[in-house]
Amino acid sequence: MRTLFKGGTVVSGQGTRPADVLVEGGTISAVGTDLSADGAQIVDCAGKLLFPGFIDAHTHFDLAVAGTVTADDFATGSRAALRGGTTTVIDYAAPDKGETLAYGLAKWREKAAGRCACDYGFHMTIDDWSEGISREMGEMVDQGIPTFKMYMTYPAMMLPEGDLYRALKRLRELGCLTGVHCENSAVIDALIAEAKAAGRIGPASHPRTRPAPLEAEAVSRLLRIAQVADVPVIIVHLSTREGLEEVRAARRRGQTVYVETCPQYLLLDESVYDAADYLDAARYVCAPPIRGAADRDALWEALKSGEIQTVATDHCSFTLEQKRMGREDFTKIPGGLPGVEDRGVLLYTAGVAAGRIDEAAMCRLLSENAAKLYGCWPRKGVIAPGSDADIVIYDPAAEGAITAADHIQNVDYDPYEGIPDRGTIHQVYLRGTLAVDRGQVLAGPDGQFIPRGRSVL
Ligand code: MN
Repeated sequence: MRTLFKGGTVVSGQGTRPADVLVEGGTISAVGTDLSADGAQIVDCAGKLLFPGFIDAHTHFDLAVAGTVTADDFATGSRAALRGGTTTVIDYAAPDKGETLAYGLAKWREKAAGRCACDYGFHMTIDDWSEGISREMGEMVDQGIPTFKMYMTYPAMMLPEGDLYRALKRLRELGCLTGVHCENSAVIDALIAEAKAAGRIGPASHPRTRPAPLEAEAVSRLLRIAQVADVPVIIVHLSTREGLEEVRAARRRGQTVYVETCPQYLLLDESVYDAADYLDAARYVCAPPIRGAADRDALWEALKSGEIQTVATDHCSFTLEQKRMGREDFTKIPGGLPGVEDRGVLLYTAGVAAGRIDEAAMCRLLSENAAKLYGCWPRKGVIAPGSDADIVIYDPAAEGAITAADHIQNVDYDPYEGIPDRGTIHQVYLRGTLAVDRGQVLAGPDGQFIPRGRSVL
């Protein structure tokens, strides 16, 4: 089957240009002006932007957390992803302490296989350390999982610093990357104890017990350990200006540091936690917490300057009923926000349409840099001959508003409720097949596991 996308504006990380795109089977075969193809199905793209399918490299589908399970699994989450223009997700496989990485990977493969509507890959969580895990890290790379995740908080997940160092050294040997969740766990625990002793048990205590300096301190500590291990790292979900300062300091020393942030840190501010109604505040509980307006502005500046390489969602959805679990104790609120369906429109609306970034930057942040950083370039992340025909047709002229009443994420609220959209996702093609047509998800559970190689960013 041949499809010719006529008359649109093709976006890449370098800029925009008017071009036609010819797709044969699941692959892009030509990009150029005035293309024609006998017998091809024609898709009129006049007035539309063509982005390479977005990649969301930070999702948590079907994850057990604190006595409950995320509301979205691979079936619902991947359909929502596609509807939002995301054609590839990279989720975190998370073995429990004591389990092998192979066992953790098998569990995640089982969660996704035959259910996922978009393409997918996994990062492997390193939450324990042994010779066996060190060896298995190499086996993960051989199986197309060259990226890892480590935590500096959460007792069930975090590694002692000596093991963090050992794992980083092993990554250096393998030439691979890890994302790291940076927050100072011990001081957060002390602040939580203070808040509870003072009877401050509501959601407003959540951001106050995880203040900005405790992200910056952990970023600094990680980057100093990475300096000694002599290895690049990725700071995931960076939320603060002070954390960004620590990244800048490490880069001035000559270190390679990559940074991801998320829509919640770009679109919202900490006043969400002051809502009088418990659920109105609890719905925004996530870690790191949503920060102040000055942090938000600093992150936008860093997106514009290229200091932040990618925007992912940290999609980790819980229903309002699940968020009730912390009614008597804010530390029992399951932490996480939905967003996998909203990211593209949010970044276009608050970024491109608002004049903060241009289309090329949006393409780098959502597609190109993620593909390069996470090792699936140029199969993904670019509209070019030979690449998978993952194409988002964006209509910048359409207007709408984000609302839970419309979304298909399996959650009964939307953190971005009421934000007026500039533009909509008109159509989404996954490997050459129409997967979403004006909000209707047509794709079945045909997402493929995408084996990845080493970073080329
Ligand atoms: Mn996460």
